[in-house]
Amino acid sequence: MSLVFDEYGNPFIVIRDQQAKERLRGIEAHRSHILAAKTIANIMKSSLGPKGMDKMMVSQDGEVLVTNDGATILENMQVDNQIAKLMVQLSKSQDDEIGDGTTGVVVLAGSLLEQAEQLIEKGIHPCRIYEGYETACKIATEHLKTISDSIEFSKDNIEPLIKTAMTCLGSKIVNRFHRQMSEIAVKAVVSVADLERKDVNLENIKLEGKEGGKLEDTQLVKGIIIDKGISHPQMPKTIKDAKICLLTCPFEPPKPKTKNSIEITNEKDFKVLGELEQKYFKEMVEKVKATGANLVICQWGFDDEANHLLLQNNLPAVRWVGGLDLEKIAMATGGRIVARFEDVSADKLGRAGLVREVGFGTTQDRYLSIEDCPNTNAVTIFVRGGNKMIVEEAKRSIHDALCVTRNLIRDNRVIYGGGSSEISCGLKISAMADDIASIEQYAVRAFADALDAIPLALAENSGLPSIESLSTVKAMQIKEKNPRLGIDCNHRDTNDMKAQHVFDTLPGKTQQFLLANQVVKMILKIDDIIKMGSESDE
Ligand code: ADP
Repeated sequence: MSLVFDEYGNPFIVIRDQQAKERLRGIEAHRSHILAAKTIANIMKSSLGPKGMDKMMVSQDGEVLVTNDGATILENMQVDNQIAKLMVQLSKSQDDEIGDGTTGVVVLAGSLLEQAEQLIEKGIHPCRIYEGYETACKIATEHLKTISDSIEFSKDNIEPLIKTAMTCLGSKIVNRFHRQMSEIAVKAVVSVADLERKDVNLENIKLEGKEGGKLEDTQLVKGIIIDKGISHPQMPKTIKDAKICLLTCPFEPPKPKTKNSIEITNEKDFKVLGELEQKYFKEMVEKVKATGANLVICQWGFDDEANHLLLQNNLPAVRWVGGLDLEKIAMATGGRIVARFEDVSADKLGRAGLVREVGFGTTQDRYLSIEDCPNTNAVTIFVRGGNKMIVEEAKRSIHDALCVTRNLIRDNRVIYGGGSSEISCGLKISAMADDIASIEQYAVRAFADALDAIPLALAENSGLPSIESLSTVKAMQIKEKNPRLGIDCNHRDTNDMKAQHVFDTLPGKTQQFLLANQVVKMILKIDDIIKMGSESDE
């Protein structure tokens, strides 16, 4: 509103044009959101499954990212549409809670909305649709429990866990070495897990990566890795039974805090000053050595002369270690970080069974691995790869495998993949739909049809005739009463996913259904979009 005056000086109020607001209502609004959500789902569809394609994302400043991970693709798409943003969040929720199945959940939500659109066109009210969906989703999640299998594993028998992690990695960039990568991921999780309490703290697993080398050089290190080397090439590179002195004070003579200058007028004084410095430094080294330390890890640097003295005194050192890394080392080794040189003492030393410097083939880079620490079972997965993009993508893939293994340790029930569980749930829901007398029956059936999107996409991405493959597998499931039959994406001549060892976790699949259904309900409930016009529009 604004107050203006006419030519006679009379005031009057101008109410701004309401038309400046963009407004979509009713069926138009539904159509517009469904279109937005479907567009996102269609982009993701081609990434689903073992033969899914990757996406290349190029940021505004030209940085390239290649990935197959649904959550990462969506996160980097920078969508503007509000409904599309809901789909992005949907994928993120799946990623946060389960860590895998981020593509599938979006494809499913898109397909549910596509089916809903047809029902809306038929004149069924959105609220009846989402009520029907709710019923169907409940049937599906109950049915998943009945077709699930439990896998048995123990610390000595981790093979079933490896097989499940392999399914998760089968669609990723690392799939050529997915056996090796799965072993690494599972061993990492098992070594930090408490199998009795079914508890895993993934924070104890550090994922580090360095470009250069090959993907198969990726390794599991039982300890902490820091991106630094021993300060002098002639110092020992392997220290057994390390007693570590952790310093945050500089390894050099102290400097007064206030500004000062020393005027030296003759050679003798200069020499005295040099000797004093040397003496001071020697005392520092002796003090550290007296505590029994055989390695110094320092947050600050020291100059070449100091480095040389450390070498002469047989005291290997590491310099410029970041504060966070230093804290991590202190926690793992049970050492105390010393901030003032006077406080150095034997009881503050950290201990580790083995500290070694490892080089990277031909490059100059080195890293320090601190293993066998008393206070932690922390492990590090050190990912190698030809370039940064591959390392980053491999890290994301391994993270998914870690999450899947953690989920299995928490709940050891699995269902079979390749779209088999979706087909089985679809059949169950269709059968139950006949008993529903109200109009919801349509929506319940639509949910069953929407589930077909997963096997259809899997077949299409694997170069199979999608509708034909789906109908064949569906007919086989009914005939053989076998819910394990799915799409044979890898052309192994069997549709039995148990035989192919294609597993998904039960909580992961259940969560996919629940989250997709929740978002669809939310989108269907919106029937009015009011976008405020910006100041300049008005
Ligand atoms: P998401 O990000 O949703 O996990 P993926 O690209 O990892 O997506 O694909 C997962 C889907 O692919 C699951 O439905 C799973 O059952 C299926 N899948 C994985 N490996 C195979 C396989 N070897 N044969 C058939 N289906 C598979």
